[in-house]
Amino acid sequence: MDEPCDHSALRQGHSLIRFMGGKRQHSRIFNAEEEKELQKCAACGVCHSVCPVYNLTGDDTLSARGKIHLLKALESGELEPGKTGRDIFSRCLLCYACETACPSGVKASDLWIKARNYFSENTGRSIKGTAIKAVSGRGSLPVLMKLGKVVQHAAPKHSLGAGHLRPLLSDSFLLDTLPYSVPAKVDKKLRVGYFVGCVSNFFLNNVGLSAISVLSKLGCEVIIPKEQVCCGAPAFNNGEMNAARKLAEKNISAFLKCNVDVITSADATCGGSFRHEYRQLVGDHPDYEEFSDKYREIHGLVLELGLPEKIKTGDLKVTYHDSCHLRHTQGVKDEPRKLLKMIPGLELREMEESEMCCGFGGSYSLFYAKDAVQISADKIKNALKSGAGILAAGSPGCMLKLMEEARISESDIKVMHTMEILDDRL
Ligand code: SF4
Ligand code: SF4
Repeated sequence: MDEPCDHSALRQGHSLIRFMGGKRQHSRIFNAEEEKELQKCAACGVCHSVCPVYNLTGDDTLSARGKIHLLKALESGELEPGKTGRDIFSRCLLCYACETACPSGVKASDLWIKARNYFSENTGRSIKGTAIKAVSGRGSLPVLMKLGKVVQHAAPKHSLGAGHLRPLLSDSFLLDTLPYSVPAKVDKKLRVGYFVGCVSNFFLNNVGLSAISVLSKLGCEVIIPKEQVCCGAPAFNNGEMNAARKLAEKNISAFLKCNVDVITSADATCGGSFRHEYRQLVGDHPDYEEFSDKYREIHGLVLELGLPEKIKTGDLKVTYHDSCHLRHTQGVKDEPRKLLKMIPGLELREMEESEMCCGFGGSYSLFYAKDAVQISADKIKNALKSGAGILAAGSPGCMLKLMEEARISESDIKVMHTMEILDDRL
């Protein structure tokens, strides 16, 4: 228990309750499991220290404890759903550091999405939710990105400047350029289905190329189904369950018909979505179990495949950022570090608060750009303090945010995916 319950903040919560419209008839929102999660909260405040949004604002209402307090009031009928409540949940990074830290084991991941879904249904969509819905259709994202590319080429470069996350789209999209199959470069051990993910597809092509190259060099035939679509995480995280479900079904069908042994991705967000969100979305799909059993997190998979005895050597000082979707969603902490340490000449220098979110949070960095920039600035400062020249991460989403911040702060630290570092040495 790191600090007593902040009653003034909770009173603030009560004023929100009044703001949201006063008492209403009690109706159940949460199922029995979710209500159990709500009741587990001991209001100890341990979640404060790990919450990037609380650290930035000092506002208990935005912490896990404050949000649970509001949900309890909502459930008991004290609280009417309103736009203020909707915005409180929208302002959460969904990093789930609070879930990892919670001594009472509250599963925030079960509660925050349910709350977003509830608010979206009962208060109408926010601008953010409307935007996510617009791009969540099966085919609309690639079309929008292609349009974006045209605009990007037409706009003067300085208009795509600093201050917000305005990444530059790749000249060509990875899925359009990759073959269906990349052969194993050494004796074949596995047939691996590779999920590219939107960030690598539209922005950071080299992440996918490096991951596929590493797998091929370690004895995998890599299959890249063309029918794969967005994993559905942005839709899911914004309560657009129908759109997310359709995307999940499409991916399950695209991968299972390729007859692969395992499915993997260098995008931690997509992997986290396969591991957790697909259970909620398509757990009743006849092929879900098979798809889920085949998914393997890429760092663990590479460790199992084993690195060759001869790896290029060369001095490199690297620090590692724990992507939330690896550390908190998939419980992957040691594997990327173990892999990096196996590279001859590479010195791993741990940075302070490596497990703290980078501020990307998907659409968070677009809709709460000022907060996101502050969070990522702290991350870059900690990376520089470690004395490393390379900041490694396991998620292209984090990389986009960190690259942008490194550019804004004119830091010369290089941001790379662990698969890019490994590929350079194999
Ligand atoms: S969510 Fe967990 S860590 Fe946060 S106040 Fe409740 S019991 Fe404590
Ligand atoms: S998910 Fe992250 S941002 Fe949201 S309450 Fe938990 S720690 Fe804070």
